[in-house]
Amino acid sequence: MIRVLIWNEFYHEQFKEKIQKVYPEGIHRALAEFLGREEDISVRTATLYDEHCGITKELLDETDVLLWWGHARHGEVPDEVAELVRDAVLDGMGAIFLHSAHHSKPFRLLMGTPCHLTWRESEDREVLWVIDPAHPITRDIDRYFVLPAEETYGEPFIVPNPDKVLLIGNYSGGEVFRSGCLYERGNGKIFYFQPGHETFPTYKDPNVQSIIRNAVRFLAPTYRVRPTCPHVRKITDDEPYVIVKP
Ligand code: ZN
Repeated sequence: MIRVLIWNEFYHEQFKEKIQKVYPEGIHRALAEFLGREEDISVRTATLYDEHCGITKELLDETDVLLWWGHARHGEVPDEVAELVRDAVLDGMGAIFLHSAHHSKPFRLLMGTPCHLTWRESEDREVLWVIDPAHPITRDIDRYFVLPAEETYGEPFIVPNPDKVLLIGNYSGGEVFRSGCLYERGNGKIFYFQPGHETFPTYKDPNVQSIIRNAVRFLAPTYRVRPTCPHVRKITDDEPYVIVKP
């Protein structure tokens, strides 16, 4: 069973009518709804309004893949929570940062750059082009798929060069964007996935759901090891090499 934790800021859904029409129970519930249908995935959720953002070391230790959505209240996430997430990824936890989570504290910590991009809300149509059709995350997608309306995110995206770019978004306004980026940090894998503006039903799109489902399975660790920095003795005939498995 892959244990998924979905974290959502859950701020604007509580009072903005336009968003409530799309996600009446919040974006986290919409994500939980389709992921929870999978037999090999169990889902928990947490929001900014839970105590300590609903994030503890114990909970992250029991999480294989964390999904993170936020856009307006990044600054209210305590630094200690972002550090817990970073450390869990370094141990091996998978993390999917969705849409405006590019500016979230844990993503910026893991990237080490400002993660700025260019943007506008003009309901552009987005075509998402598959760059790596053989990758497990894009396995169900044809050459491309279309979202009738999305918030425009454009280059330059101020992140380290991804280990792999899986998708490039192209908007009717002309911009292009690295919409699916894979990273490894420590023992953990990270996937940044751009679609998901809160006023559009993006997380109800079957292609978007496929990519998130596939990403959960791809990012899930087989086991986790805390990176350490041990001071060790030289291997000699008197003290033979011993393999210590975690
Ligand atoms: Zn947005």
